[in-house]
Amino acid sequence: MEERITIIEGDITKQEVDAIVNAANNSLLGGGGVDGAIHRAAGPELLEETRQIGGCPTGEARVSKGYRLPAKWVIHTVGPIWRGGNRNEEQLLASCYRNSLKAAVDLGAKTVAFPSISTGAYGFPLERATEIALRETRKFLEGDQTLEKVIFVCFGDRALNTYKEILGRFSDSAE
Ligand code: ADP
Repeated sequence: MEERITIIEGDITKQEVDAIVNAANNSLLGGGGVDGAIHRAAGPELLEETRQIGGCPTGEARVSKGYRLPAKWVIHTVGPIWRGGNRNEEQLLASCYRNSLKAAVDLGAKTVAFPSISTGAYGFPLERATEIALRETRKFLEGDQTLEKVIFVCFGDRALNTYKEILGRFSDSAE
């Protein structure tokens, strides 16, 4: 299954995949970080569509077109804001990954790229978030034969090294 998971350093808006995942906020009206970058690269039509969608609860996902992005679709998911770890943050982040992967399959996507959801402005500790991202994705891919590639796009060396280290740990312990 590891051959279906790829870790790269880069900008998610440049990825030539069927769908990219956006770390959005509950309003789906755009924001800073990766959300702002995706809206800028997709163009104003994206905001028109997400305004029609009318918001998204934390842990869920909503789908739009990709407009001027190389990706055909954007899967908007809303990660939890880290509040110390006792506010269901880990379960909510796991739901983001599961619901986004399910949305990708429902779209018929073969390739999907994720940013590191919640680890920027929302303050989720990177290492714990990475463990959840990789664990949920591995679990999902075990039960799915349609997704060919899941790419984790790391913004900077710290995220890249963390993802590589944790994926290596998972692979070593796989039976
Ligand atoms: P959140 O509010 O969910 O924390 P942020 O956008 O603040 O979302 O951060 C999520 C992650 O996305 C961070 O790790 C940040 O470094 C990363 N990021 C920011 N811009 C990009 C980009 N263009 N491509 C990929 N990742 C990005």
